[in-house]
Amino acid sequence: MKIPHIIIIGSGGAALCAAVEAMAFNVAITLVTKHCYQQAQYIWSSMGGCTWKTHGFNAAIGQGDSVAQHINDTLKGGSYANHPKLAQTLCEGAVDLVDFLQQLGVEFDREANNQLLTRPFGGCGTPRSIFKEDRLGFYIQQMLFKKIKAGVEAGKITLLENLRAIKILKNTNHDITGVRAIKSDTLEYIDLYGDAVILADGGGASMYSPSAASADKSCDGIAMALEAGCNVIDMEFVQFHPTGIASHVPTFDGSLVE
Ligand SMILES: Cc1cc2nc3c(=O)[nH]c(=O)nc-3n(C[C@H](O)[C@H](O)[C@H](O)COP(=O)(O)OP(=O)(O)OC[C@H]3O[C@@H](n4cnc5c(N)ncnc54)[C@H](O)[C@@H]3O)c2cc1C
Repeated sequence: MKIPHIIIIGSGGAALCAAVEAMAFNVAITLVTKHCYQQAQYIWSSMGGCTWKTHGFNAAIGQGDSVAQHINDTLKGGSYANHPKLAQTLCEGAVDLVDFLQQLGVEFDREANNQLLTRPFGGCGTPRSIFKEDRLGFYIQQMLFKKIKAGVEAGKITLLENLRAIKILKNTNHDITGVRAIKSDTLEYIDLYGDAVILADGGGASMYSPSAASADKSCDGIAMALEAGCNVIDMEFVQFHPTGIASHVPTFDGSLVE
């Protein structure tokens, strides 16, 4: 019997987590990414998208903290324009994510009594950000990619690098049948066929200048989704990193100041 085939676009935290979760099922997975992992694995500049830049993330795991407080802080930080249900999903999911990442082998900085250390992050009423040095995202990517590598070796995942997805393919009944992609080196078009497509290509922050987001966050997924007939919502909300260099040298303009 033919097993379902999932095509995942991207290789940041969202895409790699989707692939790791999908590996638990009897499915074939193809991961399509603009990056090249094989040649420069674990080098900062080759890590997927913006995920590797992440310093830490908020999770209500500290003593005296609660998911309810985290939700309140999140709603306040969003000037109450947030969707409360999504804020709740985010804050509850953050606690589960800590377990998921620890099971994956991600280590966090800890206090002497082995409790996870938390530190203040913008808009939090209490220190709530868990971290590993100042580059948790890098460690998360490293561990996720180890799993992906094992999936590739086990024949569960096909990893296609240096490949930019450009179009969602549909049949005459308007069912999604796959994606069209272009090879970055030879500019050759490739059509990939599958039963489901997951767009995990980050947003499009780098269309703004200056921006601290990596240049590969170029809005491709939103454009592809729109072209395929999807509705997109809340496009006016774009997160910018609060600190960055203002420079007349394009390479430095917007780059991160810790
Ligand atoms: C400077 C900076 C600091 C940050 N610090 C924090 C922090 O401390 N805590 C926190 O919680 N968040 C932080 N963030 C936000 C966080 O990094 C993002 O929310 C997170 O990376 C989003 O993950 P993602 O997997 O959705 O996207 P990304 O990590 O951006 O991954 C997108 C992936 O899709 C690939 N891709 C894009 N288009 C295509 C295409 N057409 N075809 C194939 N592949 C494609 C990209 O190459 C990349 O691999 C920070 C962001 C920045 C920019």
